[in-house]
Amino acid sequence: MKTTKNILKQADFSKEDLLYLLGLKGDERLLLLQKSAEVKKLTVGKKVYFRGLIEYSNKCKKDCYYCGVRASNSQPRRYEIAEEEVLSAAKFAYENKFASLVIQSGERSDEAFVSKIEHLLREIKTLSNNDLGITLSCGEQSTKTYERWKEAGAHRYLLRIETSNRELYSKLHPRNSLHDYNKRIKALKRLRETGYQVGTGVMIGLPFQTLEHLADDLLFFKELDIDMAGMGPFIEHQETPLFQYKDRLLSLKERFELSLNMVALLRLVMPDINIAATTALQAIDEQGREKALKVGANIIMPNLTPIKYREDYLLYKDKPCIDEEAEECQNCLVARIHMAGDEIGYGEWGDSLHYKQRQKQLIIKP
Ligand code: SAM
Ligand code: SF4
Repeated sequence: MKTTKNILKQADFSKEDLLYLLGLKGDERLLLLQKSAEVKKLTVGKKVYFRGLIEYSNKCKKDCYYCGVRASNSQPRRYEIAEEEVLSAAKFAYENKFASLVIQSGERSDEAFVSKIEHLLREIKTLSNNDLGITLSCGEQSTKTYERWKEAGAHRYLLRIETSNRELYSKLHPRNSLHDYNKRIKALKRLRETGYQVGTGVMIGLPFQTLEHLADDLLFFKELDIDMAGMGPFIEHQETPLFQYKDRLLSLKERFELSLNMVALLRLVMPDINIAATTALQAIDEQGREKALKVGANIIMPNLTPIKYREDYLLYKDKPCIDEEAEECQNCLVARIHMAGDEIGYGEWGDSLHYKQRQKQLIIKP
């Protein structure tokens, strides 16, 4: 009979192994978390890289059933951060040796939005002497748009699949061409073809989601050969359609623990990718991000969005750090990272080792 210790010695995991490990509790679960912490040290090491997060705009043409900034929610005041404010956040990141930014936004594909992002990318590159690395997370776009943004200076892109299960995906989104599972997959493939380091991820603890879905998500990441991942617990938002299922969800504690199991398992399944310790973890547990760093994550995203916009970017309830200035946020994170026994890769892009490895192989292959 297979034991937890034996399964953890393997280099490859079947779906059954993943299902078994995802469901571990108590001391057996600790074996998984210890193993992933060891693998993290041996592969990506103890360095944690900063990606200063700018939540550029909450204007969104989509209506995802889980998200607080969905188009049909009339509560948030719709904003776009003024150019000077974006550049001043970028300057803060540059001067504080964050080395990288993430520009995240509601999804739009009109020319005004596409060219604004393109312009901001060029301005950020100029103000930082090309030093700041930039990750984008602005949803599904055409190949042309992905190329324009790459040309202007972005080199990583995060587009969560949200769930790799087609049927579950259709329960989380309106059934129309704007929210089409196949299109999301195609967008991920286009990002790879355009030359980005590609990140994806899922929400954990969604209504109707099973452990089997999550095991499949891990296999999906492997199959897609992703470079980076951002995963976190689903947290219900009162003004969204999924709120009606709030009584059927796992408890917040269970969602949190399952999210840590997912981070730990992903570190075992894809040892050399970058994994973010996401903000949603901290919404449930004050030390959520440190805990994720301990079991395998190596990226953290200090929020640099000017405070006056943060209340209008509430994707879920109890989003943390909505009233902390960038500097306070940074100080608090530095302490948290040290508490987790890690160190900060100041001034380093901290690109995905997995990506670098793939690039090397492409060069060697004729
Ligand atoms: N609009 C872009 C997109 O959807 O790819 C990027 C911004 S979107 C707000 C970033 C991520 O927030 C989504 O991929 C989703 O996983 C996460 N998110 C939205 N609502 C959430 C919720 N209620 N709980 C946890 N995460 C949520
Ligand atoms: Fe818009 Fe992204 Fe929220 Fe969906 S998850 S409603 S695309 S911001």
